Amino acid sequence: MDRERTQTTPGRALIVEDEPHIRELVALHLSLEGLTCTQTGDGDEALRLAKDGHFDLIVLDLMLPGLDGVTVCRAIRRDSPNAETPILMLTARSEESDKVLGLESGADDYLTKPFGIRELVARARALLRRANAIRAAQAPEHAEVIAVPGLSIDPARRQVRVDDRAVDLTTLEFELLYLLASRRGLVFSREMLLGRVWKDDRHVTERSVDTLIKRIRKKIEPDPENPKFILTVWGAGYKFADADD
Ligand code: CA
Repeated sequence: MDRERTQTTPGRALIVEDEPHIRELVALHLSLEGLTCTQTGDGDEALRLAKDGHFDLIVLDLMLPGLDGVTVCRAIRRDSPNAETPILMLTARSEESDKVLGLESGADDYLTKPFGIRELVARARALLRRANAIRAAQAPEHAEVIAVPGLSIDPARRQVRVDDRAVDLTTLEFELLYLLASRRGLVFSREMLLGRVWKDDRHVTERSVDTLIKRIRKKIEPDPENPKFILTVWGAGYKFADADD
């Protein structure tokens, strides 16, 4: 059912639509935009694809065989490498409730059928532009140094200092530490960390998170057995200590 064009293109799109002529039309026009398109007409397969790899855009029909679009959308947002991927929902009916349901489920935009293909391409472009702008704003060169007593993290230089002593971290170690420290006090589940730090690497498990946390603690914590920076939240995940801890 899904078809993938292997070429070096700026991004990947997942097109989920059970009406073949609409699906192929959308795929054709998005590939003209430079996107590599994967297609499916089935909700369950859509979710499997979305959990398996990162896409830059997802076009998702509401009414599908298998899981419906809203269920797929919620599941993608909850737990997949596409938690932040722009999702454009397609709906056959124009009732307000459908639109609201689509947006509440985590879709970024919606189009009511029948739609013009130019309209869809314009919406897709707008979503991709917005995602690029967000990514650029979050890029390390724009990020500020995070400093707490005894520890500073400089994302532009990818440098970590413990009590003014430079500490070498691997790329993964740095990214995990920076993610936690940039949202102090917020609890990240292991699944969330896998999705954000390892992205679409399928060969990692939740154990990989624990192992990496252990390595980071050895490098930055004065007493790795009683960490004061990266705290374990039992049954939930990890967080970077905030002022209340
Ligand atoms: Ca449909």
